[in-house]
Order: sequence, then C-alpha cells, then structure tokens
Amino acid sequence: MSGIIQTSIALAIFMGGYGSCLLIRRNKKRECLKHFIEFGNRLIIITDSTEIKDANQKTLDFFGVASVAELRKKSRFVSRLFKEVVVDDMRHMEAIDWVTRIKPNQTIRVQAVRNNFTQTFLMHVSKIDDEYYMLEFQNISKLLAEKNNIEQSAEKDDLTQIYNRSKFNQMLLSVQRNAEIYKKPFCIILFDIDHFKKVNDTYGHDAGDKVLIQVATLVRHILRDSDLFARWGGEEFVILAESCALNDAYELANRLRSEIESFPFPIVKRLTCSFGVAEYQMGESLENLIKRADSALYQSKKEGRNRVTLAPIR
Ligand code: GH3
Ligand code: MG
Ligand code: MG
Repeated sequence: MSGIIQTSIALAIFMGGYGSCLLIRRNKKRECLKHFIEFGNRLIIITDSTEIKDANQKTLDFFGVASVAELRKKSRFVSRLFKEVVVDDMRHMEAIDWVTRIKPNQTIRVQAVRNNFTQTFLMHVSKIDDEYYMLEFQNISKLLAEKNNIEQSAEKDDLTQIYNRSKFNQMLLSVQRNAEIYKKPFCIILFDIDHFKKVNDTYGHDAGDKVLIQVATLVRHILRDSDLFARWGGEEFVILAESCALNDAYELANRLRSEIESFPFPIVKRLTCSFGVAEYQMGESLENLIKRADSALYQSKKEGRNRVTLAPIR
C-alpha cells in the first residue's frame, strides 16, 4: 500500500455502503481501501499510470505469490501479467499509460495463465484520484465454458450427437463462400437408410433410435476430420466433403455404403443405405446443389437401393 499510504487523496469512488469512507482521515482511508479491495471475489490491482502499486490477496493467490513485492518481481506492469484479448483489432493495452485512456464504462477482455490453464477476465478500470487507478478483474472463464457448451449443444442433433441440419446449413454457406473465392471444389453426399420403417415396425422405435446412433457413429469414424457430417432429418444424413471433386466423393460414398452393408448391427443384423452425390458447380445456389444430391439419392432408391448415384452436372 506504500504509494497509496502517501497520498492524501479523497477516495471518492466507493460505491453505496462505502460512501461513509468519504472525507475520513488518511489512516481510515487506507484501512477502508484495504478492506474494500479484499471484499468480493475479484482480483484487484491498484496502479498508477504505469506500475503495479498494490494488489488484493485474491490476485496474489492467483499468481501464486506471497506479497505485492513478489508480484512486482514477476512484472511491474499489469499488461505483462494480463494479455488483452484483441476484439475487432482494437488494442487498448499497448501504450505505456493505457490505464489513463480506458473509459469508466469500458470493459476489456484479458487473459492470464494459472497452473497451465488460461483464464479469461473482464477488466474494469476506476480512477481513484489524479494518481491512482483501481483495476478489477472478473473471472469469466466458467461463464464462457458454459456459453460454449450451450452453443455446442444447440448445433448438435439430440439423438446422434452429430451436427443438426441448421448448423450444417450454416457451415455449408461458409464453405460455399470459400469455394467461390478460392475456386475449390466440394461435394455433398446425401444418404438415407433403406427400409428403415421396417426396423421400427419389427423391433420398435427405441431399437430404431439405436440403429440411427450406430449408423452415425460408424460413419463418423470413417470420415476425415475435415468432412462435415449432419443429420439431415429422420433417417437421412448429409456429408459435406471439402476440397473434394466428384470422383473422390464417389469413392468416399461407396466406401461408406460398403462398410454399412457389412457392419454387424446388434439388433437388425444387416442394414443398407442409398446415396446421392453432387459436386458444387461454381455460381449455383445451395438449394440447387441439395436438390441435385437429393435427385441422385432418389435415383439410387429407384434402382434398387444400397447404391451410390452421382448427380449429373447441370
Ligand atoms: P426407403 O428405403 O424408401 O427410405 O424406406 P424407409 O422405410 O426407410 O423410408 P420411409 O420414409 O417410408 O420411413 C422412414 C421412417 O423413419 C419412418 C419414420 O418413423 C422413421 N424415423 C424418422 N425419424 C426417426 C427417429 O428419430 N427415430 C426412429 N426410431 N425412427 C425414425
Ligand atoms: Mg429410408
Ligand atoms: Mg427418408
């Protein structure tokens, strides 16, 4: 607290219950600030426009040091302890006196590493007086992880845990944009389980559900990491094979067809699927691409099922 102790500043920043801290004598002010920064579960650092002057116990614990002096040995500068997460190319922590430039209502996202885990914080700056600033760091790592989980589960199909149709369409759009820019081919493989209604009728709906999971799992293990795989609806699935021309997509679809045909499914024993494959034609709409893959799939069904049909180019 050395720097703080020497100041004769009025601590005008205290909120609600701390209003009583105003206009009290220097010793009291010091106690009050010390108490204030230890309150709550945020990391708090007191700094002048460049160097760390004080820090609460939570900050010392976080960085695994016993005293402020030890923390200052790690770094005298906040910008070395916490790295800014740059959003939209906006850098706030570059200039030496960056603290003075942060507006009171601004929050900056920063990260620091603890036990090899990167933790993310929202940093908020309050001006204490002409010389000192209080930096509060709210750890939002758990919130971010939860948000991530929610977002991920919203993109997945509940039953099979592969992507759902809406996420697939979203990814398809971005792959199409890339394909147009870099003139890279990509293909759509649509496939549908043959006579699936019979599975439900013979073994029941729950057994049907298990078969859907088994098919999705089997296919997922065969695909490359770069292939996007989703449940298109019911017993129909879709694959987006990036950087892949029609003949490669045909090979892939045929391999999947053959692996499914020979897989010893627990309840139903034997199962087959019909496939339709279409390569994206530069400039075509995604609706048209899907329609061509769907017509090719329909052709496979018509010609006896358990086969792969290539969609003719427009
Ligand atoms: P085809 O070879 O022509 O594709 O015949 P099919 O019997 O597979 O096709 P059809 O469209 O007649 O039947 C599809 C069945 O898939 C009917 C529907 O009840 C079933 N189904 C769709 N979604 C699910 C699901 O989530 N779980 C289960 N168990 N069945 C489903
Ligand atoms: Mg079917
Ligand atoms: Mg179907």
